[in-house]
Parts: sequence; structure tokens; C-alpha cells
Amino acid sequence: MEEKKKTVGELRREALCYAPKHGYDRLDAKEEGAMQAYCEDYKHFLDAGKTERECVDEAIRLAESRGFKPFVRGMELKPGDKIYRSNRGKALTLAVVGRRPLSEGVNIGAAHIDSPRLDLKPNPLYEEDGMAYLKTHYYGGIRKYQWVTIPLELHGVVALKDGSVRRLAIGANPGDPVFTVNDLLPHLGAEQSKKPLGEAVPAEKLNILVGGRPFPDDEGDNRIKLAVLDLLNQKYGIVEEDFISAELEAVPAFQASDVGLDRSFVGAYGHDDRVCAYAELAAILELSAPERTAVCILADKEEIGSEGVSGMQSAAFDTFMSDLCDTQKVPLKACYEKSFCLSADVTAAYDPNYADVYEKRNSAMVNFGIGLAKYTGARGKSGSSDASAEVVAYVRKVLDGTGVIWQMAELGRVDAGGGGTVACYMANRDIDTIDAGVPVLSMHAPFETVAKLDCYMTYRAMRAIYEAEAE
Ligand code: MN
Ligand code: MN
Repeated sequence: MEEKKKTVGELRREALCYAPKHGYDRLDAKEEGAMQAYCEDYKHFLDAGKTERECVDEAIRLAESRGFKPFVRGMELKPGDKIYRSNRGKALTLAVVGRRPLSEGVNIGAAHIDSPRLDLKPNPLYEEDGMAYLKTHYYGGIRKYQWVTIPLELHGVVALKDGSVRRLAIGANPGDPVFTVNDLLPHLGAEQSKKPLGEAVPAEKLNILVGGRPFPDDEGDNRIKLAVLDLLNQKYGIVEEDFISAELEAVPAFQASDVGLDRSFVGAYGHDDRVCAYAELAAILELSAPERTAVCILADKEEIGSEGVSGMQSAAFDTFMSDLCDTQKVPLKACYEKSFCLSADVTAAYDPNYADVYEKRNSAMVNFGIGLAKYTGARGKSGSSDASAEVVAYVRKVLDGTGVIWQMAELGRVDAGGGGTVACYMANRDIDTIDAGVPVLSMHAPFETVAKLDCYMTYRAMRAIYEAEAE
């Protein structure tokens, strides 16, 4: 068929206007299979890692199967060597040594593996009116009303005084019981329903139901609590005081599932930010000997400000990089100033149900690819590192050069709210940094939704960044 000749207007429109097409209209047919396979692997990763510690374990398991070795200070390294270092089992840094010296900088991907959840308090267990409960203190920015009447699992560790650590993952295996936070019935909820959404479920009512059967043959108080303690003691060898040195996290009991009749979405707990963490991980596992050294960060504590030893503000990352630089006698600062970091974190996907909080021209749409965010922050970009024009241009070049489907992303309407990422902590180290990640629907909810195409394109983007030569 003869192709219709384009008008001058059409040609000028093509040349001048920025009008990204839907991702599926740009997706190479050959990539469809790879995208589906990638998302299946991602779903397995999500189900295996519902806490930061479990994500570290799973990432190490995958990395070791691909030849990664623990990085010990003083180790000699050559191009192509694959290393990792766990930070207290809660954060992980991996690297593949490049052919060029570290004085020419490294390519970094920085994502986080902690997700919003309900943490148990140090003295959590109590009995009241025939039921035993666990008190919680929420972690990260949650909308509390979303965490009632859903099935919860209890994952984490109990550290004992003898130095041993007991691991729990109750609800994770088929046949396990689950837990829940109860809510008021509508019949008696008239007063509660009049309250603002943010106040209807106070934090101190997020108490998890864990028991209702009294300890037999006992005349004392709190027999239900005693029975719960007895079960925990039999199974894990712990006593009530051990809760004080525990990190137990109540997480949604949902497994990752395809969403939609066309299965184009994945619904799961913890897409923020495991969807980007997995993209980084999958990409670095496939590298052999890139030009520049590739570094993959799976950080903890992003959801509460990146503080602490396992957060991105911790010197643990600098120590890792400094140990790496020592292998080539390169000053750390010289490496940093030439390095590039993609702060891989999720962004808000435009939701037509709540169009008023978005600014459509600058919002990330589902299925339009990885979203690049020049800046994040709130109230006039506060808390954002605001990538330079040159850095954005560099990323455009790398992504376009490798056929990655991408879009621009701003979290929402100016002054509608805001948020931050680890980008500022990387940029503060004198590393050129930009945010980019998967657009998420219902971010921070127990069940978040992302588009498969965007997940896959984030992996493709990470691979392109790792394999890029330099700015
Ligand atoms: Mn995040
Ligand atoms: Mn978050």
C-alpha cells in the first residue's frame, strides 16, 4: 500500500512537538515475552521479601547464584569481579567492577527495600475483654484506615541475650494463620464516619488480634495472653521480655497478583520501592564487565527519612565505596565527583479518580514507561536535590539510545503535598543524581498497583545506566 504523503504541518508537528505515545504502541513485539518473564520473576521476589531483611536475603541468594562474592576489605579486584556487602542484614550494596578505573567514576542505582507497615511496640502483648492483641507503631507514611480488616502476616526477628536470633514469618506459608486489625461495624460507626479520614482510625487503635483461647487449668489473670506466650515459647523459644529486642513487622498477607482482565498490572504489597530495587538488582546481575563500575544500593529506612546505620545517610555506603576505591588507590572524592546515580524510587501514577491532586501535563501515566523526576520535594521543591539540566539531558540520551520507554514525572499538583527520596543524600556526596522510577497507583497502601510495562522499562533503564560509558 502506498504511504500517504505527510503534510508540512504533520512533519513540523513530528519534529517539534513533545507528545509521547502510549507504551504499548512503542513496545517492540520481541520484548513482550521478556517483559512477561521479568514480571513473573519480580512477583516471586516480592513474595520472598516482605521485609527489608528478607529482601536482603533473597537478593544475596540471587546474587550468589550469579557469581557474586562477599566483599572483604583489602580484597584484590579486577574488571568483571562481582561483589556485595550486607549492612547488618538490612541493606545491601552490590558492585560489578568495570574496565575503567574508579577515578573515572561509577554508575550507581539507589533504591530502598523498606516499605510502610505496622511495627510491634517493645511491649506489645496484652489481653483485654477476652482477646489478646499486639500494640503497633506504624512505620512510614500510612493511611491508617487502609490497614484495618485486612489479613496480616508477622515477619521479623527476635534477638536474644545469648546472641542468637529467632526469625519469624507467620502467615507466609500455606496453612499458616494470619492476623488482623478489627474495625467498627457500620451499624455503630455513625460517629466515626463523621470524622476526617486521617482521624477516623487513631494509631493507638491499630492493635493486632492474636488470640482468644485461654490457657487451660489456670486460675490466674490474662489466661489468653499466657496461652499466646506459651505458643510463642514452644515454637520460637522466646518469652515476653524478648519482644523488647525484636523487630517484628506486621505486613499485608497478600501475594503478588496480576491485576486486570488483560493482566497488564501487578498488585502487591511493597512495590514502593521493591519494584525499583528489583529492577536494579536484575540489571546488575546480568552485567559481565561494564565500562564503568556498576553499583547497586538496596537501602533501608527511606520511609522514615533515610536515617540510621542502614539508611542512605549512613556512612556505611561511603565505607563500601572507600574500600572499593582503596583497591585502586583512588581517592573516594575523586570517584564520587565523576560518578552518576539514578535514585530509583517510585513516583505517583496519575489517577483519574483523583484528578484534582495531579497536574496532568507533568504527571506520570501508567504504561508510559519509567518516570524521570528532575526534582521531588514539597512547598517549592524543598527537600529535593533538583537534578541539573545537563544531568537530565544525559539520561535522555542514555535511555533514548537504548530504546527505553520513559516519561517525565512530577509527584502531583504543586502544593498538593509532596515527598522525597534518597536522591538528596546521594547528591550531597557530590554525585550527580536524578530520580526515576515506576509510577504507582495507591502508593503506600497495603496493596499497591503498578503496570508491567513500567516495571520492565525501569529494569531496562537500570541496565542502560549501568552500561553507559559516562557523561
Ligand atoms: Mn519510595
Ligand atoms: Mn514511600
